[in-house]
Amino acid sequence: MKLLIDKLYKSNTLSQTEYKELIENRNPELSEYLFEKARAVRIENYGHDVYMRGLIEFSNYCRNDCYYCGIRKSNTNADRYRLTKEQILESCLTGYDLGFRTFVLQAGEDMYFTDEKIIDIILSIKGEYPDCAITLSIGERSYESYKAFFDAGAERYLLRHETADPKHYGRLHPKMLSLDNRKDCLYMLKDIGYQVGCGFMVGSPFQTTQCLVEDLLFIQDLNPHMVGIGPFIPHHGTPFADKEAGTLELTLFLLALIRLMLPNVLLPATTALGTINPKGRELGILAGANVVMPNLSPIGVREKYLLYDNKICTGDEAAECRYCMEKRMEAIGYHLAVSRGDHKSIQ
Ligand code: SAH
Repeated sequence: MKLLIDKLYKSNTLSQTEYKELIENRNPELSEYLFEKARAVRIENYGHDVYMRGLIEFSNYCRNDCYYCGIRKSNTNADRYRLTKEQILESCLTGYDLGFRTFVLQAGEDMYFTDEKIIDIILSIKGEYPDCAITLSIGERSYESYKAFFDAGAERYLLRHETADPKHYGRLHPKMLSLDNRKDCLYMLKDIGYQVGCGFMVGSPFQTTQCLVEDLLFIQDLNPHMVGIGPFIPHHGTPFADKEAGTLELTLFLLALIRLMLPNVLLPATTALGTINPKGRELGILAGANVVMPNLSPIGVREKYLLYDNKICTGDEAAECRYCMEKRMEAIGYHLAVSRGDHKSIQ
């Protein structure tokens, strides 16, 4: 198995059967070997810098009904909110003073935020903080909308593909959502010129090793700038309330594989990883991740943007999160960078 890791390290790719073999035969010793290689590649490309993104969750209204997600339309117990443009700008101000140079605007698919409103928000943020990058994470929209947001100044877009296996996709989403459409969006975003991020949940219900292999092959094909993966965690108000969460162990293994496949990729150690294990984000960094995304949303709405149960940091001020993260990274020999943290191909 170590030979397969050496091969991936050298050539950045493996065949379907080889990926499957690696995932199925993993064990602690093999994982440690993989993490060492992933760390080496990460350090070669990004040193010990950890890029930070300020996450602003600006609406939890959603027209979709994804079975896993706590803010799905059918969860009538979700306490819905929208931030005003002024509140979003205030979050940016707080973030800027704390050294954030990327703002990630994330929300459910809330059509109250028309293209016009989104463009107005992008222009306002860019007007005040021309040295900052804006990442959008607002789901599926048309080519024209994506193009208009890009022209207004948004330069990155996160849209997890969720699973690259069409049957599996159908078991996680209602019929009206399709993997084909999701993939089309990703290719459009790339075509427009965004730094694009795809990704998936690890351990989502009905996921098989074959699904994960499909995910890796899709990532190879799309060749994205960012890949967001984190464990699935059940939310009490969803059809998957009783399903098991994904594991730290498998998430770390996949993070490291992805680092070897795409040496330059921007790879976050996610909040979900920090939620299933108190040291999850540190371990993610040590498995090859190079991005963290502390929350900049106003405290009052943090608990309402609940995609899954037990989400961490919902009661902490942005400044607390920022300094806590700094301490955590310093403790493992890394440091938070005050920079836009672009993909290496763009720096
Ligand atoms: N509406 C936007 C943003 C979605 S929320 C969009 O469609 O892209 C961001 C991500 O959270 C999702 O892509 C999903 O992968 C993840 N997520 C949702 N519910 C989750 C859960 N129960 N456990 C772990 N991750 C979850």
